Amino acid sequence: MPTITLKLELHNPTKVKQDMYERMTEVNTSFANWLLNHPKLNQATSKLFKEFSSQRFPSAVVNQTIREVKSQKKSQKAKKFRTFWCCFNNQNVKVEKKGEFYTVSFPTLEKRVGVPVVTRPYQEAWLNRLLNGTAKQGAAKLYKKRKKWCLAVAVTFEVEPRHETKVMGVDLGLRYLAVASVGTKSWFFKGNQCAFVRRRYAALRRRLGKAKKLHMIRKIGRKESRWMKEMNHNISRQIVNFALANGVGVIAYKAEMAGIRVEWVDPTYTSQTCKCGYREKANRNGIHFRCQRCGYTLHADLNGAINIAKAISGFVA
Ligand SMILES: [Zn+2]
Repeated sequence: MPTITLKLELHNPTKVKQDMYERMTEVNTSFANWLLNHPKLNQATSKLFKEFSSQRFPSAVVNQTIREVKSQKKSQKAKKFRTFWCCFNNQNVKVEKKGEFYTVSFPTLEKRVGVPVVTRPYQEAWLNRLLNGTAKQGAAKLYKKRKKWCLAVAVTFEVEPRHETKVMGVDLGLRYLAVASVGTKSWFFKGNQCAFVRRRYAALRRRLGKAKKLHMIRKIGRKESRWMKEMNHNISRQIVNFALANGVGVIAYKAEMAGIRVEWVDPTYTSQTCKCGYREKANRNGIHFRCQRCGYTLHADLNGAINIAKAISGFVA
């Protein structure tokens, strides 16, 4: 069963809460380091914490820390932990939906309360699956990144690739970054901003090329590819949302994300082929598709996406 990690940002925790998370992390880190050198680590149970400190600390966290330190010691990975985030097993974390909002609750130093989390549509899709039982919640980790407290929750789910009924074609291009087509519905993902940034980088490269600043060109190349990666990631996420909303089983995207199967289609002919079956280079002229035989016209990228969907349907059937 595939597993994904759902990273949920806690929604505006109070200063008091943030201080408490900070304190929990500090205690947990020093406990983990104390454990690492404990002669009886292998027999350790949650009772051992009393030997370490007299303060109150959630035994759910203690148990997870002991388990993790044991395995890290065994694989001789750790010498000293810089930060040891508090972890909880699946039974100790509860996801709930209250009205429009999703909340998570986990053991802390205070009374247990549901904390609202910031969610995007694709995260809501996963939280809904946890709530309706079509995905299973695993262990969770409370951590801080860029001054924001988050809960990373492991989610495992069943993949049933043979039950897919719908197919989505995705045509990846420059003018439109992607065009998706499901049945009669289609969606254009605009690449305007993308093209603009790429043109700007290309112009900068030309200028630097004239000035023979090769190391700068290389540096820019890396920056651009990082930016493209991020952009593609965002677009793919939107495509997956579109796919999920339309009950699609197959699209070209990260397969592990939603158990969606990926098939790549030779793009050479998809944009030149008409639904009547006639293929000719002249059928496509920029963004316009016009069949030279039957006169059928359509947006060229959309025609490509439809043909891709058809081609993939052929694989599935
Ligand atoms: Zn035609």
